[in-house]
Amino acid sequence: MELFSSIEMKDHEQITFFQDKLTGLKTIIGVHSTVLGPALGGCRMWTYENEAEALKDVLRLSRGMTYKAALAGLNLGGGKAVILANSQTEKTSELLKSFGRAVEALSGRYITAEDVGMSVEDIDTIRSQTAYAVGGSNEGGSGDPSVMTAYGVFQGMKACVKHLNLKNDLSELTVAVQGVGHVGYHLCSYLHAAGCNILVADIYPENTKRVQKEFGVKVLDAKEIHRVHCDIFAPCALGSGLNSTTIPELNCKIVAGSANNQLATEADGQRLMGRNIAYAPDYVINAGGLINVAAELDGYDQGKVMKKVAQIEETVAKVLNLGQKKNIPPQEAADELVESILAQKRGRYLEFPHPQKMKNLK
Ligand code: NAD
Repeated sequence: MELFSSIEMKDHEQITFFQDKLTGLKTIIGVHSTVLGPALGGCRMWTYENEAEALKDVLRLSRGMTYKAALAGLNLGGGKAVILANSQTEKTSELLKSFGRAVEALSGRYITAEDVGMSVEDIDTIRSQTAYAVGGSNEGGSGDPSVMTAYGVFQGMKACVKHLNLKNDLSELTVAVQGVGHVGYHLCSYLHAAGCNILVADIYPENTKRVQKEFGVKVLDAKEIHRVHCDIFAPCALGSGLNSTTIPELNCKIVAGSANNQLATEADGQRLMGRNIAYAPDYVINAGGLINVAAELDGYDQGKVMKKVAQIEETVAKVLNLGQKKNIPPQEAADELVESILAQKRGRYLEFPHPQKMKNLK
C-alpha cells in the first residue's frame, strides 16, 4: 500500500487519524500546508461510503483551503477535518469534545471551524476543549459567514463585468442566481441594491418566496435557470454544476457564484473558455466567508473584514487578466498565482499562534 507517494497524499504536510472508542470519534485531520501560516479549515461531519472516501475528501478539501487562503491574501495555510459520523443521529457533546481534544493535540498547526453537518453551537462545544477553533458564538466571534461570502461574490462579479468591458457597475444587468439559501439570499440583496434584474431558482419554494417578497425577483424552474438568457449566471447551490451537459446550454457572458467545486472536471474550465464565457474561479470569488472567520484570529473588526473582502474584485481581475494573457482558463491562472505565492514563502520559519493568544479570544 502506498502512503506518502500516493497521488492525493504526496503534497500534504500531515494527516492525522484520531480514534476515541469511548465517544465513538473517528476523525481525520488533514494539514495540507502551513507555508503561509497555521492551517485553517472547517470540520465536516458526514457518513461516507467507506473510510477511503473520507480520506479522499479531507485531502481534497484541505488542499483547496491552502489555495483559497493564499489568494485571499491571508497568513494562513490549508487544513480540513472530517468526522466519520451521522450529524443527525450520532453527534453528541462528548464526541465533539473528543474532537476538540484531538485539535488541541495538534498545538495550533490546525485551526478548526464550521462546515457541513456542524453548527455554531458545535463549535462552542469544541471550544470548551481547545483554543484552536473559530466561528463560535463567543464574544469576538465572526457570526454567519454567508453575508461576507455574498459580498465577495458581488465584488468578483464587478471585476468580470469590467473585464469584458460591459459596464462600470452592475446596474440593469440580468443575473441568474441558482440556489437562494444563505449566500444566494444575501447576494440577491446586494444585486437588488445595485439595480440588477434578478432571476432565481431553488428546489425549496420557501427560499424563492422569501427573495421574491423582499427583492421582487423573478422565479424560474430549478432545471431551467442555467439555460436562461442573462449577463451573469451565479451558481450558489451545490458543486459540479458546470459540466459537459450544462456548459453548452449556458446563455450568459459570465459565470460568477459562491458554490464550491463548480467545475465537474478540469476540462470544464476549457469548455467555458471555448464558449467565451468569463469564469471567476470558485475558490477566488467565494473566499469572503474564510476572510470573515479568519479575522477572529486578529480580533474581529467588521470594517476591516469588508475592506479585505472587497479586494476580491482586484484578485478576480488579476486572475482573469493572467488567464487572458497566457490563453489559459482562469482557474489555471489562479492556481499559478497561488504556486508563486507559496514558492516565495516556502522554507521560512513559521511561528504558530501561541495558545495564550488564541485563549484570549474566548
Ligand atoms: P445553503 O445550503 O444555505 O444554500 C444552498 C441552496 O441551494 C439551498 O437553498 C438549496 O435548496 C439550493 N439548491 C440545492 N440544489 C439546487 C438545485 N439543483 N437548483 C437550485 N437550487 C438548489 O448553502 P450556502 O451556505 O448558501 O452555500 C451555497 C454554496 O456556496 C455551497 O456550495 C457552499 O459550499 C458554498 N460556499 C458557501 C459559503 C458560506 O459562507 N456559506 C462560503 C464559501 C462557499
